[in-house]
Amino acid sequence: MTVGVVRDPIFQEHDTGPYHCEVGSRLAAIDEAIVQWEGHGALDMLPLRPASEEELARVHQASHLRRVAGTAGRNTSLDPDTVCSPRSCEVALLAAGSLIGLCDAALSGEVDHGFALVRPPGHHATSTQAMGFCLFNNVAAAAAHLMLKRGLERVLVVDWDVHHGNGTEDIFYSESRVLYFSTHQSPLYPGTGQVGAVGHGSAKGRTINVPLIPGRGDVEQLQAFEHILLPVARQFRPQFILVSAGFDAHREDPLGSMMVSAAGYAALTQRLVEISQEFCPGRVVAALEGGYNQAALGRSVVAVLGALAGQRREDQLMAVASDTETIAEVAKAREVAGRFWDLP
Ligand SMILES: [Zn+2]
Repeated sequence: MTVGVVRDPIFQEHDTGPYHCEVGSRLAAIDEAIVQWEGHGALDMLPLRPASEEELARVHQASHLRRVAGTAGRNTSLDPDTVCSPRSCEVALLAAGSLIGLCDAALSGEVDHGFALVRPPGHHATSTQAMGFCLFNNVAAAAAHLMLKRGLERVLVVDWDVHHGNGTEDIFYSESRVLYFSTHQSPLYPGTGQVGAVGHGSAKGRTINVPLIPGRGDVEQLQAFEHILLPVARQFRPQFILVSAGFDAHREDPLGSMMVSAAGYAALTQRLVEISQEFCPGRVVAALEGGYNQAALGRSVVAVLGALAGQRREDQLMAVASDTETIAEVAKAREVAGRFWDLP
């Protein structure tokens, strides 16, 4: 198995200043963990490329693209959390475009699965605005590319960042070709992602939110996958799986209050690889979102890369999840999803 990665020092050039948590050194920490990982020979570094205006215009309004372009060469901010440095726009274009390139490489079979280790992150960016450290919605742009340029009709987007991906949900709320599945802490920023938000029109049931109370960890996340995502995915039959891979649900993260471990992220990834083996072999592509304890971030990314490369180590964790009584939040989200999907 060759896992494609996008990884380059230029992604550290989006400079958010000395007091921000979403900083370039996050990527340096990931690099360090990868270099020390014995499996790193399985990684294939893919070339970078910027997203075109056409590719971004599929998911963002022209006014938003102009506003981000207007930050070039300046230190400024687009909302209280979302700051830009002179090269931020250039770097954000490379983040979105290189993820799209990675998806094409997975689609053509050049690589089996992939991980775009890019920043700025994307899942809070809506069609009209930057927010929550995000300029362009990288994963949404990739999903739109897969549908509109490559003709796919069923794209699964899994978002396990501790924050709800309000931007991705918003962009695809009426899009029946995208199944958006999110587990996130609630209450927490940005305050969206209620279990009753299910999609609109023909896309009803295509948004599945599993808000979890603080303190939930590996077992509860796996339950959400096991009892909701897996049976729904088997009916949806995805042709591609995109992952908004944030690691701020890690037990050591300073922004979240969840208890997920690096082994937990590996187990979640293994589940997605299993789904892909049934419906779309080699087509799980992750994009980095949050994750602010840098040591935990490095370990977690390596754990995900290992699972994408085919290491199977987390079966015991999954057995525990299957044997544990279903928590209330998962039961509730399953009941809601069961209005649109056959859940045994
Ligand atoms: Zn986050």
